[in-house]
Amino acid sequence: MLPDVAENCSCSLASGLGAPSLMRDPMTGLFNKHGLVTQGNELLPQLAAAGRRPQVIFLELNDYDALASRFGFQEILTLLTQVRELMVRSFRDSLVARFDSERFAVLADDEGEGLRRFLDALKQPMIVGGVALHLSVSCGIAIYPDSADNMDMLIMAARAARKEALNTGKPVAVFARDLRHRLRRRRAIEDALWDCRDGQHMRLLYQPKMTIHDGSLMGVEALLRWDHPELGTVSPAEFIPIAEQAGSILPIGNWVIREALHQKREWQRAGHDIALAINVSPLQLSADDQDRGVLSTLLSEIGRFDFDPTGIELEITEGLLTDADIMRQVQRVADAGFGIAVDDFGRDHSALSLLVDCPARTLKIDRSFVDNVASNDRQLAIVRFIVDLARSLGMRTVVEGVEHMQQLIRLADAGCDYGQGYFYYRPMAAAEVPSVRHMV
Ligand code: C2E
Ligand code: CA
Ligand code: CA
Repeated sequence: MLPDVAENCSCSLASGLGAPSLMRDPMTGLFNKHGLVTQGNELLPQLAAAGRRPQVIFLELNDYDALASRFGFQEILTLLTQVRELMVRSFRDSLVARFDSERFAVLADDEGEGLRRFLDALKQPMIVGGVALHLSVSCGIAIYPDSADNMDMLIMAARAARKEALNTGKPVAVFARDLRHRLRRRRAIEDALWDCRDGQHMRLLYQPKMTIHDGSLMGVEALLRWDHPELGTVSPAEFIPIAEQAGSILPIGNWVIREALHQKREWQRAGHDIALAINVSPLQLSADDQDRGVLSTLLSEIGRFDFDPTGIELEITEGLLTDADIMRQVQRVADAGFGIAVDDFGRDHSALSLLVDCPARTLKIDRSFVDNVASNDRQLAIVRFIVDLARSLGMRTVVEGVEHMQQLIRLADAGCDYGQGYFYYRPMAAAEVPSVRHMV
């Protein structure tokens, strides 16, 4: 057990109360980070030698900023004191530390017993400022020596695991070997993306969207591809979310707009008037970045090429419909004459009522609805309902991910206007687009 080993190395445990002040958090009296690292590094080899499995648990209160702005200093102090009490009671024989504001860490060797007690105890509300609060936490666990062999690295690994827990919506995640590999790859992608701001190693493919009733080409969607010399071909499903979080989506997104419009110009020169849809990310539409944002890039480019904006559509994901700032920017883009399409509709289970005030002219029905539409009548009934709703709001519908003839027949029956998917065409190089044939 942790205390016995600790007694042997004559350090005080469980709360850190007896530790010298340099090692203590003044607000809670628990260990601070320095204290936990110092004491932990002494204990780790001894615990392992005694056949224990020491682990670091990194723990953060969720929504702390919202709590801190809702309550005053005194109430936050009460809250932190109650959390401290719960932790000391739950992680009985462990080293407990508070790093800063809402961040805590524990060195335990109890096979998760303490954490189970703590999470159980949190199910009871805490009373703060006369209000009953249900606190939620996210935790990451790193195990010695599998995840790392010293306290600093264990804490880093546990922090990374906590992030993973938050991203996957779980309260707890354990640092796994493959997480280390994924983090390294993620960092490499994040760094490499900054070198792509002018489109280095990037190219666009174009996927046709077809009119279902007569099989004619309705337009194309530009899809980004990245062939990195060392990382290989990285899927946009992997790198776009990283670019969004890191901010490099701004220069990359601007490059996509310029490149796609340049291509539209090339087709036009060759006598093909092809409607173009471009995917844009939330950050590109956020109000703070108007100078570098979508509308200014679009306006300067169409000015150069003398384009009619109605032949250009921006695809935004349905999650954005709830963000008032972004929707104001979307409205500006629509007011300037560009088309707006709501992408992946139905994937995030958003409320249909959000469509009422949306300036979109196109609704793209998510692939998940198409998958078993051929065999499931209830699924088809939902698609029919969405199509009717879109039509009554003056919007046209595109179904995404059509792969089989059977699906297409049913979707046509449900009244969908356009289809996109491998059944028609996969994303293709720009030069192939003019040879797209009618498909009835
Ligand atoms: P998305 O906008 O929903 O694009 C459709 C994705 O489905 C594309 O994947 C396309 O290749 C794929 N797809 C098309 N037809 C079928 C089909 O019949 N079956 C299946 N299984 N898949 C089909 P891709 O190109 O890998 O792009 C993934 C996502 O990355 C896109 O989803 C979009 O959200 C994002 N993305 C791609 N290019 C850009 C870009 O230039 N800017 C931004 N912000 N996001 C982009
Ligand atoms: Ca799209
Ligand atoms: Ca989509």
